[in-house]
Amino acid sequence: MTSKPTPKPWIKAIHAYVPGKAHADDGRELVKLSANENPLGCSPAAMAALATAKSPAGYPDPDASDLRAAIGALHGIDPARIVCGTGSDELLNLAAQAYAGPGDEVLFSNFSFAVYDIAARRCGATPVIAADKDYGTDVDALIGAVTDKTRVVFVANPNNPTGSFLPASQIARLHAALPGDVLFVLDQAYAEYLSGNEDDGGIALAGSHANVLVTRTFSKIYGLAGERIGWATGHPDIIASLNRIRGPFNVTNHGQAAALAAIGDQAFVAASRDHNAVELRRFVDAVERLGNHGLRALPSKGNFLLVLFEGSLSAEKAYNALAEGGYATRWLPGAGLPHCLRITIGTTEHMDHVARILREQAEAAQ
Ligand code: PMP
Repeated sequence: MTSKPTPKPWIKAIHAYVPGKAHADDGRELVKLSANENPLGCSPAAMAALATAKSPAGYPDPDASDLRAAIGALHGIDPARIVCGTGSDELLNLAAQAYAGPGDEVLFSNFSFAVYDIAARRCGATPVIAADKDYGTDVDALIGAVTDKTRVVFVANPNNPTGSFLPASQIARLHAALPGDVLFVLDQAYAEYLSGNEDDGGIALAGSHANVLVTRTFSKIYGLAGERIGWATGHPDIIASLNRIRGPFNVTNHGQAAALAAIGDQAFVAASRDHNAVELRRFVDAVERLGNHGLRALPSKGNFLLVLFEGSLSAEKAYNALAEGGYATRWLPGAGLPHCLRITIGTTEHMDHVARILREQAEAAQ
């Protein structure tokens, strides 16, 4: 008998991340409202930077120095407290790997971002899921689930896939209740969609405490998901730990150039935020008008809406009808949300069309 390598049992136990699809089962290309991408694309300045970025023959700056300086200047952070990653996914994984291992617990809320479970398991730690409150993050449940084995706590704020948001007072309360030797990872992938007065205080917390790491991304409002650029800020000791284990050239020449240019175009960021606010509001209204058919929208602070189907029209049927009509959305049975679709806020035209399909389906299902 030939022998073969055996993956670690905790690796075998991982369910691989299932991304939203871009094609119907018959191969037709769909409008993608399944991955929370920016329907306006990215800044023209970022497009121009991509066209003129350094030759791919040379390795990128391993420290992404110019990009870190620009991020620091925009957010008022010392660049020594910033690390860039291959998307914020890489940084979430590195945080778990650096601070948790076999026998340790990694804590997060029910219905939070799918990568936390993978990040915990891949370093051999045990994922612990705290109960949600009405689909949102429940600070008391998280605090109650902390044990002496807890090493890392992940909170997405705003949260994906539910869109829920904890204000600064709740984030501060959670942080204050955590033992100092627990790393609190606050994932702010959607923070730029918040309006000015909604800051959850995470960056300030990361600047003043030794156990807080805030992660951000260029994949969402900056419209650069395809270039894979994220960043994180925290105490220099945390940043040093992540730097020890990250890939040495983890952000490409093109990614660094595009992100740098994108940071310089805050008008594009503001336009994207405004577009999202208007279209999210309109889409919530459209879903609420279908309340008598059992459709319900959870309050969302992101660039997506979680729609609950609690009447005759099932989420699965709506998902298939939307795909038939040309739209990929995210049906979430694997995340314990078989009665829900997560729908990214797209262009005005696409949201009108999606709302129309939902209305027709809801009326037909009566
Ligand atoms: N955190 C959350 C909450 C997300 O929804 C996503 C993207 N789906 C990420 C992190 C990772 O994004 P990226 O790796 O593209 O930065």
